[in-house]
Amino acid sequence: VMGSLKFKRLIKEDNLETASEVALDQVEGGAQAIDINMDDGMLEGKECMTHFLNLIASDPEISKVPIMVDSSKWNIIEAGLKCIQGKGIVNSISLKEGEEIFKKHAKTILRYGAAVVVMAFDEKGQAVDYQDKIRICKRAYNILVHEIGFPAEDIIFDPNILTVATGIKEHNNYAVDFFKATKWIKENLSHVKVSGGVSNVSFSFRGNNIVREAMHSAFLYHAINNGMDMGIVNAGMIEVYEDIPSDLLKAVEDVLLNKDDDATERLVDLAENIKGDGKQRIEDLSWREQSVEGRLSHALVKGIVTFIDNDTEEARLKFNKPLEVIEGPLMDGMSVVGELFGSGKMFLPQVVKSARVMKKAVALLTPFIEKEKKESSHAGKVLLATVKGDVHDIGKNIVGVVLGCNNYKIIDLGVMVPANRILEEAQKNKVDVIGLSGLITPSLDEMIDVAKEMQRNDLKVPLMIGGATTSKIHTAVKINEHYNNNTVLHVLDASKAVGVSRKLIGKEQKIFKEEIAKEYDKIKKNYLNRKSDKEHLSIEEARKNALQIDWEKEQINPANQLGVQVFDTIDILAIKNYIDWTPFFFTWEMRKKYPAILEDDLFSEQAQRLFEDANVMLDKVIKNNWLQAKAIIGIWKANSEGDDVYLFDEINNNIATFNFLRQQAKKRRANRCLSDFIAPLSSGKQDYMGSFVCTAGLGIEKQLSVFEKDHDDYNSIMLKAISDRLAEALTEYMHEKVRRKIWGYAADEKFSNEDLIREEYNGIRPAPGYTACPDHTEKLKIFDLLDATEKIGVSLTENMAMTPNATVSGYYFAHPEAKYFSVGKVQDDQIIDYAKRKNKSIKEIEKWLRSNI
Ligand code: SAH
Repeated sequence: VMGSLKFKRLIKEDNLETASEVALDQVEGGAQAIDINMDDGMLEGKECMTHFLNLIASDPEISKVPIMVDSSKWNIIEAGLKCIQGKGIVNSISLKEGEEIFKKHAKTILRYGAAVVVMAFDEKGQAVDYQDKIRICKRAYNILVHEIGFPAEDIIFDPNILTVATGIKEHNNYAVDFFKATKWIKENLSHVKVSGGVSNVSFSFRGNNIVREAMHSAFLYHAINNGMDMGIVNAGMIEVYEDIPSDLLKAVEDVLLNKDDDATERLVDLAENIKGDGKQRIEDLSWREQSVEGRLSHALVKGIVTFIDNDTEEARLKFNKPLEVIEGPLMDGMSVVGELFGSGKMFLPQVVKSARVMKKAVALLTPFIEKEKKESSHAGKVLLATVKGDVHDIGKNIVGVVLGCNNYKIIDLGVMVPANRILEEAQKNKVDVIGLSGLITPSLDEMIDVAKEMQRNDLKVPLMIGGATTSKIHTAVKINEHYNNNTVLHVLDASKAVGVSRKLIGKEQKIFKEEIAKEYDKIKKNYLNRKSDKEHLSIEEARKNALQIDWEKEQINPANQLGVQVFDTIDILAIKNYIDWTPFFFTWEMRKKYPAILEDDLFSEQAQRLFEDANVMLDKVIKNNWLQAKAIIGIWKANSEGDDVYLFDEINNNIATFNFLRQQAKKRRANRCLSDFIAPLSSGKQDYMGSFVCTAGLGIEKQLSVFEKDHDDYNSIMLKAISDRLAEALTEYMHEKVRRKIWGYAADEKFSNEDLIREEYNGIRPAPGYTACPDHTEKLKIFDLLDATEKIGVSLTENMAMTPNATVSGYYFAHPEAKYFSVGKVQDDQIIDYAKRKNKSIKEIEKWLRSNI
């Protein structure tokens, strides 16, 4: 209760269940012990300690770490000792009140089997210098070990870390005193441990975290060298010792080691400079001095979550009603964010961070608001869903966050949502707008189905369409006609969603809807009346104009290893360097190339922060095993015939046939088809072809749910974006392995990552669903051939989306002439021919090739 306002409030309200989540959060955050303190004038400390310890004892996730019972009142400590299971730690006892009491307490602790922190205090007070520290610790040791029989290994001495560089000369040797005392204790008092509260040492530099962090790590470095075993420090406030700039390190160590009388002054001077130096990011805490309204607004605009719990609680107590906190300072802060984003002065990552602050504050206030049974006012309700058969949701989540920032209430139904559920929820919640999202082409049809259902059920809610394959034209031509009840419009990206929603819901909505109707009608008319500027060939003619490769002359390298291989323990560290970062910045709507974006006039600062956050996340992914990456690849003997490619096993049985599509627009060069890159059967040459499935999204749900529980969209989107990047990186990595070893047609190639991203190598890896091979259903064959679902746990939805989301699948072609291209529009004759080749109905083929018709 001394360390957390939130915990204190929950305890005061007797809400122990929720309070135990605070402990759980710490354990999940990596705490190695949890310190429990109930010292507060308004609390019945003994009862609180007892109830709380009994409660968490039944939670295996919490009670797997040792408990430190922390109190300045002995009766509370003893109450705690009665409850804890396993071995606990008492924090703390000392000789402050004399030997008798010290012994009595120690004996009791011994009887309970706990370890103990012994502070270097005696009847005269706190041990400040070396001599006092060792004298008191030695005395305490002798009493504990020799008089009482306390196991020495259960004693933890805290010889007091005191503040240096205060300007008072007597303080200059405090760190040295601690180091020396620690060394002496470890050498002379067998088996004991030494601990200390590290942040004390740097108090005189409050407000300058760079200096403080450097002091903490330099202090720990020397203290550990002298034998310190454990310490209390905010893990976020330590710098890596090696990373401390050498001038700062020298100045800090001169102070800690008390090199000379001017050491403090030198560090103070340097600290001023560090503050002024624009390169170093200093956490300027002066905003903490503002009123609570000012602090909330600052935290929102800057996206700082550190103090939000306490500030929200303070505001709640200050205002008459919890709702006023949301509608007052929080909404004021968010509208600043909304304005800055709208005017291009803030970027998406910052907005998402702001939203995280808002969500945390609202989550704290919600229980109080619910008590009053009042709903917070909002700008409108927006329902969002990724349609049936599709699992992509980064864009949709971003739209939700941005709308949320602008005071819209978001009902997010998640992914793979069938039409009936969308309608049900829309009606139940009386939403003002429905937003549909999807990435793969079959989702376009699903959106049409939702529009039809909305019409049939007589809904009157405007419909927003978004996602990578959607477009204004498609919306105008294909979706609009199915929903005449109201407006259907396409929204390009998250930054546009706010303006559109405002207009759809606002007073002027009638005018806006009429404008949209006119605009979309015009688009449709233009589209239908357009004279195709492209002449089309019949499929026969197109085939005659296929890409010509002189197979006679070709030297085809036999593949080194035929058949299927699984790579199910991919080390993420190994693929990290293959990441192409440019699409990552695109995801965050910062559209510039990496690495230039880091130096860009407009984006540099935010791009650097985002990049830093991404790398921190990557490190966590690696350290905590948040994602598992797996790949499966196969190489087979292959020959083409027309637009098909036959695959053969080692004894030349035909094991599968890939069916491809050919360009039909009149071309000056060739009318391409992927089969052109494989030697035809008639050439008599043995050729090869491969395919792959690479994923880096296995296991992602677990950590996502942790972020979601914490209302942390920023990190949730970040993790998804990173896992997408890793899937592409793994694809690049596997492709290289295939070229150099497994297939081995380019054993000697050596490319930098930039070269790989520019695809300078020979060969391609086209992916079904993309323009060279737009038929998503060919994935079924790849998955079948590789047995990918069984072997690496990736599956296909009914609409051919891959799960996990961060997955890539495709084919390998080795020929140097193999290039990506776009099939473009296909004509009826090719559809009929293709349906025959695939043994499917024309209707079914048309469904899957909708975008190419
Ligand atoms: N470095 C990028 C790679 C992905 S985009 C990243 O990390 O995101 C390029 C990939 O998309 C190619 O490797 C291929 O698998 C696929 N692709 C690109 N153009 C294609 C096309 N026209 N037809 C089929 N697949 C294509």
